[in-house]
This record gives sequence, structure tokens and C-alpha cells, in this order.
Amino acid sequence: MSALPLLTLPAAAQAVGKGPEWGGNGNITTAHLSTYGDLAAFLQKQTEKQPAMELTVIGQSVKGRDLYLASWISDPAKPTILYLTQQHGNEQLTTEGALEFIKHLGTGRGRDVLDGANILVVPMLNPDGAMGDVDFSLDGYIAHGDRHLTRYNAREVDLNRDHVDRLQPETQALHENVLAVHDIDYMIDLHHQGAYSAIDEEWVSGSILHPTTPNASADLVERSKRLGAVVYDAVDSTGWGLIGKYAGGSAETISRNGLAVEYDIATLLFEMRGMSDHEGEDYVLGARSSGYLIRQTVLTLESTARAIADGSVDAADTSFWDTLPTQEWHNPDE
Ligand SMILES: [Zn+2]
Repeated sequence: MSALPLLTLPAAAQAVGKGPEWGGNGNITTAHLSTYGDLAAFLQKQTEKQPAMELTVIGQSVKGRDLYLASWISDPAKPTILYLTQQHGNEQLTTEGALEFIKHLGTGRGRDVLDGANILVVPMLNPDGAMGDVDFSLDGYIAHGDRHLTRYNAREVDLNRDHVDRLQPETQALHENVLAVHDIDYMIDLHHQGAYSAIDEEWVSGSILHPTTPNASADLVERSKRLGAVVYDAVDSTGWGLIGKYAGGSAETISRNGLAVEYDIATLLFEMRGMSDHEGEDYVLGARSSGYLIRQTVLTLESTARAIADGSVDAADTSFWDTLPTQEWHNPDE
């Protein structure tokens, strides 16, 4: 297949704040993104190549697309982490990174991780939104290419506000066939945000947040903060990554809060810079930024999987959270 050309790109070495997109958001195109069909074919190929990998269909989207769980479970007693991508269909580079991570698990790089931890990946929970196969108009969306991508599912519902009621088939599949079935200790929910979130007028490559519902115990929040510390250290040490604190609310309809308290899972939200498509110019980010954002996703998944597998996550220093600046909006044109 011609899919996944992004995976061979080297990581961009530029600092994000003055990176290649300064003065504009670049060429906004969807042509370089994996389609749902590319993703399904990739997962099938990987499960044939990787004896330790199991590929499960956990349900179907509104439009009937199979939803996948890729899992590596050697011993249920070991710690288990779930990586979730693309609840919002227009936030695709997280999925591209997750697919590269899946490929790495099948190589020598993955062996130590798989010895120490169980890995679950649910990539592209919202394939209808990702393919623009929805029952509402996407006229006015900015990206060029043969499809548009949208935040919502086919019924124009935000899946990441549906974790309490669970009225949509995509969230039902996740809860009934992943969260209720597996004993999950950690979860990272991967998203993209607008292109102009900044710290001191320097654009962030991403922002993170732990559970903030008052129903989360101090211990649960602390475990979540440790997961965040592993991500922060991995990205901050690259030289090109800049991480801020996300300003998020306390609603349990979102996974960061809802999954934490319902299933006692230490959770982390990671909001990467810029979306693949949107109606607003301030939200989209062009293909030239894809390399470092995919690399950031791979780093996030690999560093946390390793820290959970070797137990070092338990000793992660969470004090950085006390001084981590909350991101602010900085549009140079405003
Ligand atoms: Zn999102």
C-alpha cells in the first residue's frame, strides 16, 4: 500500500516556537494522512508479523467501520496501559504516531517493554469523522485533499463528551469491550489542539493534564502526575519539544476525568499542536509540522511504556507540575 509515508520522515530539528510554520500555518492538506483503509490494512499486516500482537474488533462506528484494539498481553498481573487516539476525527497525527509505535513493538526495541507491561492501543476511535463520512456538512473546512476530517462522529456528537451517557457506538465499544474487560492501570488520551497555544509567546508542541475532577483521589492524581512526568521528561529533553499545562475542566464526560474515577485508571491528556482540518484558520497546521508531532507521539508512547515496564514510573518526580506554566493563546496576527 502507499500508506504511511510520514513514518519515514526524520524528526524536524527546529524549535517549535520559531519553527517552519512561523508566519503562517503552511500547506493544509490531508493527502499525506493515512486513510481508515490504510490503518486497517496496516493493523492486519502487523498482527500477521507479530506473534505477540492480538487484533480485536471492539465494535463498529455509526457508518459501520470496524473499531480496533491492538493488544500485547503477556500476563494480566503486569501493569497495563491503554493508548487512545483520535476520539476527535480531525486530530490525526497522534494516530500516525501510534501506528509507528505498534510497528516498533514488533522489533527488538519492543522486547523489554513487552516483558514488563501489557500494552493496549485503540487507534482512531472516530473513523467516520476522520474520513469525513458524516451526516452534516463539512463545507468551509480548510484542508485540501480528497477528504475532510472533523472532530465529531457521523451524528455530529463529540465522543469525548460521551463517557458518562455512552450513547454513541464508538464510546460503547470502548467501554464495553476494552475498559470493562481489561484491568487497566494507565491511559493516555491523545489529541490535537489549536495552533497558537503558547508559553511566553513561544508555541507549545503540546500540553498535558492529569484528572481534575474532585472525585479523583489524591493517590489517583499522583499516579497520573507520575505518568505525566515521564512524558514531560521525554519531550522536554529533545530540545524541540515545549510542553505546557492544559487548562481543562472537571467534567467526567471526558475521558481524562471519567475513565479515571470510573475505572481507577491513572490518566493523562496530551494535546498536541495543530489539527489536520478545521473550519478555523487558528486551529489547522500544515504538513511541514507533521514530522516532529508524529515523533512527539512516538516518544510519548515509548517512554511511558518503558517506564511502566521497568517500574521507573513509580519513582517519577512530579514536582514539575507545581511550576509548569499553563498555556496561553498567542496568535501573531491578532
Ligand atoms: Zn481532541
